[in-house]
Amino acid sequence: MVKVPEMFGERVFNDAAMRERLPKGTYKALKKTIEDGKPLDINIANAVAHAMKEWALENGATHYTHWFQPMTGITAEKHDSFISPTSDGKVIMEFSGKELIKGEPDASSFPSGGIRATFEARGYTAWDPTSYAFIKDGSLCIPTAFCSYTGEALDKKTPLLRSMECINLQALRVLRALGDKETTHVITTVGPEQEYFLIDKKVFDMRKDLIYCGRTLFGARPPKGQELDDHYFGSIKPRVSAFMKDLDEELWKYGILAKTKHNEVAPAQHELAPIFDTTNIATDHNQLTMEVMKKLAEKHGLVCLLHEKPFAGVNGSGKHNNWSMSTNTGKNLLDPSKNPRENLQFLVFLAAVIRAVDEHQDLLRIAVASAGNDHRLGANEAPPAILSMYLGDDLTAVLDSVISGKKYVDDGQHIMETKVDVLPNFTKDTSDRNRTSPFAFTGNKFEFRMLGSAENIACANFILNTMVADVLQDFADQLEKADDVPAAAEELVKKTVSEHRRIIFNGNNYSDEWVAEAARRGLLNLRSLPDALPLYTSEKNIRLFEKHNILSEVELRSRCEVLLEKYSKIINIEALTALDMAKKDIVPAVASYIRDLAETASLVRSVDPDLVPAAETELIKKLNNLLNCFIGKIEILDRAVLGAKEVEGAAETARYFKDSVLAAMQELRAVADEMEANMSAKAWPYPSYGTMLFSV
Ligand code: ADP
Ligand code: MG
Repeated sequence: MVKVPEMFGERVFNDAAMRERLPKGTYKALKKTIEDGKPLDINIANAVAHAMKEWALENGATHYTHWFQPMTGITAEKHDSFISPTSDGKVIMEFSGKELIKGEPDASSFPSGGIRATFEARGYTAWDPTSYAFIKDGSLCIPTAFCSYTGEALDKKTPLLRSMECINLQALRVLRALGDKETTHVITTVGPEQEYFLIDKKVFDMRKDLIYCGRTLFGARPPKGQELDDHYFGSIKPRVSAFMKDLDEELWKYGILAKTKHNEVAPAQHELAPIFDTTNIATDHNQLTMEVMKKLAEKHGLVCLLHEKPFAGVNGSGKHNNWSMSTNTGKNLLDPSKNPRENLQFLVFLAAVIRAVDEHQDLLRIAVASAGNDHRLGANEAPPAILSMYLGDDLTAVLDSVISGKKYVDDGQHIMETKVDVLPNFTKDTSDRNRTSPFAFTGNKFEFRMLGSAENIACANFILNTMVADVLQDFADQLEKADDVPAAAEELVKKTVSEHRRIIFNGNNYSDEWVAEAARRGLLNLRSLPDALPLYTSEKNIRLFEKHNILSEVELRSRCEVLLEKYSKIINIEALTALDMAKKDIVPAVASYIRDLAETASLVRSVDPDLVPAAETELIKKLNNLLNCFIGKIEILDRAVLGAKEVEGAAETARYFKDSVLAAMQELRAVADEMEANMSAKAWPYPSYGTMLFSV
């Protein structure tokens, strides 16, 4: 039997391990750093390093690594053993405070978007004591931030940590102004729901597109997709269930609060949701979760696809970023409580989020921009590329009453009557669900639904934290000066919501009417990464990030460059893969199928010259036409790929890859899919969509 409480966190140097192993004073000092952000003394670091090493050795570790999150989006690690030679030709196991605090990976092989060209190649990793160290595959992994020799952030964690300090500062000022004297710290929390696909490893290995790109570049529609809605929440197949069970146990050992698992809408699609944590820990845990998912799937003869759109025609995968703010005393600042109309503090924080989302639609769109996610957003399965907020009818009515000054009348409909005697009645949530909204209030948090499944959530969260902090700063400036704080707060909420009401939309975000309505409201509609990214370095955004010390202009420009380059590189790899598949596999397969048909036709004639092989002839004509067309599309794509070399500038190149290369790939695919639909399954060189989606 699995004893979950015993197993939970067994690979983590967590609070319990620290309390047990650190001298009392050291433990207290470390806690101060973790909880209140106090700087750490080197003597403390030495003591922690010693205890950490002893714990790691007892748990079978031989190496340690600074575990960091460069701009590649995945995690990086370089392992050093603990060994240190002694004079008698033996070794002892050593690990110092210095080694704990600082690492020196060569920064030159990680994307830096030009920072490295102007500065030094040297890079540093710095221990992040707010995220626990853990043991993975015999190595003690120390979560770290990664920066250049001159201190520029080269990773995803650094701006996130900076943004957490920033929002803490501004939210505390607002709380103080509103009369809160107890709270000493405000944290941002996140629960990321992770979607993924599982397919059979044998099937995966036969598809170059999945191997190189993580998504299919060709594939005719299968007879059945997701139209019956029979997969969502459906009973879980034994192989998948075995995987999920192992996954939960692995994650629990890493101290990750894996909570919910279920089948998703598309066939072969599933979801895992953990219990929320601080934005920093949730980010580290989500990175680790994705890594564990991939590794563990292989053990089950499966492959876990984290790409946002592995298969055309069925839903892609996203990551719902459930976000809130709470105090160190455990109070959720976005909890409307029983009577939200009278809860000024809640209304002030709610108004801050509303204004932040409206003012920084561009940044939220940029935060989720990636080559993979572009296939999802706006595809009537995921939120559109237009940012808007869902508040639900109750909360919208509360805000309307603030604006109009009229009394808010609670409709009293909070009890759910099941109308069946044996079923208990229960209280309802304050808001219904709206699955189409990109940014939905869901009871006591906001669910930002636009994130792609493969992305590091740090980006979305540092941007969210910063933009809300920026509004809170302005609110604090106003409230601190006010003589009558409640009146000023009420006025502030009224003014803010009136000015930013256009961002609230409770209707169907998938409808064409909304696209037109959003345009009338003046909301942004940034359809693709090349549309969105250039706005990253606008005056407004440079000022925002510099003002709060989140990113300098140099850091921001480098980040923008990295994202643009990554986009172009991904499409380039996809195009080369498509060309390889087309030339090496698809053309020969179709040609030899046509030859088979021609042989059959002449055999038929040889039996009796009067026999007419009409079916074969028709099919030969059809396939031959398609093949000619296909060869033409190959040439167009070939030329498009070559043409990219002539384009200058990262933004221009990304735009070119979308407009010319991606477009040519889509045309090539359309012809291939039609040929596949008209050929024998045996003659087609790859497993079909049906096989991939229903193989497990
Ligand atoms: P659903 O799929 O219905 O949206 P789930 O239960 O799958 O809901 O996921 C909800 C997520 O929101 C969970 O990860 C949960 O821990 C998280 N969550 C709940 N409260 C908060 C909060 N205050 N801050 C951040 N995340 C939260
Ligand atoms: Mg959800």
